[in-house]
Amino acid sequence: MSQYHPYAERFPVNRSLPAHGRDRAEIVAELAQLAAEEDKSWEAGTVSGSYYCGDHDNYAFLGEVFAKFAHVNALQRDVCPSATRFEGEIIAMTLDLFHADAVTDTEPAGIVTSGGTGSILHGVLAHREWAASVRGVTRPNLVRPETAHPAFTKAAHLFGVEVRTAPIDPTTTLVDVDAMAGLIDDQTIMLIGSAGNYGYGTIDPIDRLSDLALARGVGLHVDGCLGGFILPWGEQLGYDIPPFDFRHPGVTSISADTHKYGYGFKGSSVCAFRDKAMRNSLYFFQTDWSGGKYFSPGIDGSRSNGLLASTWAAMVSYGQDGYREHAKAIFETAFAMQDAVRSHPELIMMGTPTFCFSFRSDEFDIYHVNDFMRTRGWRFNGQQYPNSIHMAVTGPQTQPGVVDRFRTDLADAVPYAIEHRDQQPRSAAIYGGVPGGLTPDADEFIQSMMGTMLDQHQSIPKLADPV
Ligand SMILES: *Cc1c(COP(=O)(O)O)cnc(C)c1O
Repeated sequence: MSQYHPYAERFPVNRSLPAHGRDRAEIVAELAQLAAEEDKSWEAGTVSGSYYCGDHDNYAFLGEVFAKFAHVNALQRDVCPSATRFEGEIIAMTLDLFHADAVTDTEPAGIVTSGGTGSILHGVLAHREWAASVRGVTRPNLVRPETAHPAFTKAAHLFGVEVRTAPIDPTTTLVDVDAMAGLIDDQTIMLIGSAGNYGYGTIDPIDRLSDLALARGVGLHVDGCLGGFILPWGEQLGYDIPPFDFRHPGVTSISADTHKYGYGFKGSSVCAFRDKAMRNSLYFFQTDWSGGKYFSPGIDGSRSNGLLASTWAAMVSYGQDGYREHAKAIFETAFAMQDAVRSHPELIMMGTPTFCFSFRSDEFDIYHVNDFMRTRGWRFNGQQYPNSIHMAVTGPQTQPGVVDRFRTDLADAVPYAIEHRDQQPRSAAIYGGVPGGLTPDADEFIQSMMGTMLDQHQSIPKLADPV
């Protein structure tokens, strides 16, 4: 049985609706078992990213809040004015965090979306609409650093925007601003910068990108999906973190994921705009529809008010002091882990990172280190060109003993990598995870993996009917 379908042997596989509805208590018991088993994979603190707070008390609290509003459609505000309170305050708190008070010539605004990709989609769409109406742009392009998240390429693909890509400096991992300048033309709607980028966690020179955007009359979206809810606390705590927000006058929008370091449930993020007029270009309405006058502020139709409620609840329950305290533990853990990496002359840090760091080697393929660390329960995220692996430090890594375990296991992994340097490593670079046995010619594998995610009714062989 495939490693992706471990439950097929233990539980019934539903190829059609069960003829008779199952007992709720039995369902809950079955799922509690799955959840408890799967949570074990990260609870010890060996998994990069994903479980940002890693605090079951917070998850239980958010679940309680979610349950009160999950069934409510946030599109129908007459019956749920609570959604207006939650959404408006999520946006206001986020704008404040990004120093919207520094903006004097326009009115800042935002929109709550379904995740980082959702915020990036809304950011690109708003810039396209704005450039079309204000500048008459008809063949839009965006200029991005090579490190920008694929969600920008996805947005460009969906919205008919050309993608132009600037290289990064291989040592600092930061975008070559002059190269970006050379890619701008009269059809450019926006530049992209990351704070920090997903691969290396490093922060592009947003000050210079801001100057460039202003000089050329284009927008600048700062992708703070990963760093947006942690870097501001790091700046306040005095770490070497440059401002990346609306204090730079060229920054026109910022994406920041409440479902990452905002410690909310998966399925929420904010896209903040310097100018309400640009945000308003996301508005959609069809007033002549026989079904009634229809309008929605962004791309989504119906949304669960439970996500707005639980995101809001996460933000107000942590508060500034809570976020700052958690950020401090995460930064200090990350810096201690980076010291462990730097103690090995064979390992090279990618640029100057903070809470998320990536490293590589000139002595061996770093995926040998990954192969070994996997045997000790570590799960990194893998990069390529050059091969490197990253750790986005989260709450679970701040538990006592995790840094020591990292240091010890890494000290065993390096000799293993040296010993196996002439062989092919078992793991390779896959976003969000590093499975074994991935050959360099991966397109077909990736296609079949996506199929496996969706088509279990075809990929699991039919066994005798379960009892
Ligand atoms: C996670 C991430 C995204 C995309 O977010 P999703 O929530 O996965 O859609 C975009 N940019 C960066 C830098 C990220 O880390």
